[in-house]
Amino acid sequence: MTTTTIGILGAGQLGRMLALAGYPHGLRFRFFDPAPASPASHLAEQICAPYDDEGALRRFAEGLALVTYEFENVPVAAARLLERHLPVYPPPAALEAAQDRLAEKQFFQRLGIPTPPFAAVDDRAGLDAAVRQLGLPAVLKTRRMGYDGKGQALLRSPEDAADAWRQLGGQPLILEAHVPFTRELSIIAVRGRDGATACYPLVENLHRGGILRRSVAPAPDVTPELQEQAERYAARALDALQYVGVLAIELFEVPGAAGCGAHSPALLANEMAPRVHNSGHWTIEGAATSQFENHLRATLGLPLGSTAARGHAAMLNLIGATPEPAAVLALPEAHLHCYGKEPRPGRKLGHITLRADNPQTLAERLERLERLLG
Ligand code: AMP
Repeated sequence: MTTTTIGILGAGQLGRMLALAGYPHGLRFRFFDPAPASPASHLAEQICAPYDDEGALRRFAEGLALVTYEFENVPVAAARLLERHLPVYPPPAALEAAQDRLAEKQFFQRLGIPTPPFAAVDDRAGLDAAVRQLGLPAVLKTRRMGYDGKGQALLRSPEDAADAWRQLGGQPLILEAHVPFTRELSIIAVRGRDGATACYPLVENLHRGGILRRSVAPAPDVTPELQEQAERYAARALDALQYVGVLAIELFEVPGAAGCGAHSPALLANEMAPRVHNSGHWTIEGAATSQFENHLRATLGLPLGSTAARGHAAMLNLIGATPEPAAVLALPEAHLHCYGKEPRPGRKLGHITLRADNPQTLAERLERLERLLG
């Protein structure tokens, strides 16, 4: 029997969880990451070199069935170089669209997917013009390399512009209207090589300090219309990119436009991640097929697995510190995931997923867990 080895660019916790999902299917993995001793390196070989080291990329590619990534800031040139030798999924064009917040919002706009109002900012005068155009409050963001709320400044009054510029100026920026959203949701979608698509139920996400703290799935109070709206947007993005693999789109839920009635909220796309996503970790125990397994199935050209939820789930990120395992595991249906990272303030070290058969039991378990975690 021949073994299938999948190459993964990035060796963080997402890569680690992809490998954990692939081992039951007999898959093998090889990772590429410039950072030594990354979380996935405990599981499989890691080639540790800069992303522009062509020799190392060629060595990495030897004998692989395909390459995928777990990190959206992999340089597009590395993905394109590998694409000359073997299949790379999702397509590098998806990386390109997701790496630049302006290109990403324009991509959504072209597909008729609503976004918060935005304007490009290239210089100090451009910032003042964008503030006049969009009004305040607004969020100034770097176009590239922003994640977990990094590279952002909130402008409440015109006087904040100078400070925000001092903080972020000198690189391509985007100003976005600050959206008074009711809540944040995400849709995790997957598309196979044959174009088959599937979506998980919408997830409700709570961020603090720009970092995801908690996800609840399926998100409460989601009408079939809202789920359909999200799935329509996801399908447009997937088809436009001829996408293969898991794609996550982060959404703001806003009250429906006047005349639509208070009961028809609308969705605005904030950003997309061309990879498995933190708000999809609950699928490991909370869905029929995890996002990790479905990503592998999609990239290998295998049938996609059911995305149906198994009851109700909540996922809490462990940031900066991890609790005593025994205390967590004493809770019914609590699943602890540790990524093998050195503790550091603000660092995602692991997560806990709680599962329950109904929302009431889930809420009780969540309260107990949150008390335990302080
Ligand atoms: P991002 O890195 O763009 O996902 O932003 C991190 C978090 O900042 C989001 O999850 C939101 O909570 C908040 N945020 C970002 N952009 C906006 C916006 N235009 N309006 C309101 N909140 C925002």
